[in-house]
Amino acid sequence: MAGEPQDDCLFCKIVEGHVPATIVRETESTVAFRDINPQAPVHILVIPKVHYANAAALATAEPTVAADVLRETQAVADEEKLESYRVVFNTGPGAGQTVFHAHAHILGGRGMQWPPG
Ligand code: 5GP
Ligand code: ZN
Repeated sequence: MAGEPQDDCLFCKIVEGHVPATIVRETESTVAFRDINPQAPVHILVIPKVHYANAAALATAEPTVAADVLRETQAVADEEKLESYRVVFNTGPGAGQTVFHAHAHILGGRGMQWPPG
């Protein structure tokens, strides 16, 4: 579901300032903050401020905000001086999604393997 902050959503709480996070960038529609359990020297999450359960819901319901999220991944990469980096949207539990508020992972600062696990 999209729209109002969800009471049980960790990332809505970060948007509202009710859960602390190391915020690196903020725009009218997005917040970027460091992942609490980094999987690379740079591991930052970009989220829309409005709640969408995953990237698929975000892209179909609100393509403008989806574009804002994507633009912010590049802005974060620029700020972190990442020439190569990976952007990941885990979508659904089978793909490793554990927080059901759409988010882009930005991973960088080390070599990456392909295919991912
Ligand atoms: P997912 O597994 O849904 O793709 O990604 C969720 C991410 O959120 C994980 O990488 C996890 O480490 C991160 N995360 C979970 N709880 C918190 C938290 O309280 N603060 C921050 N900054 N990141 C969190
Ligand atoms: Zn949420």
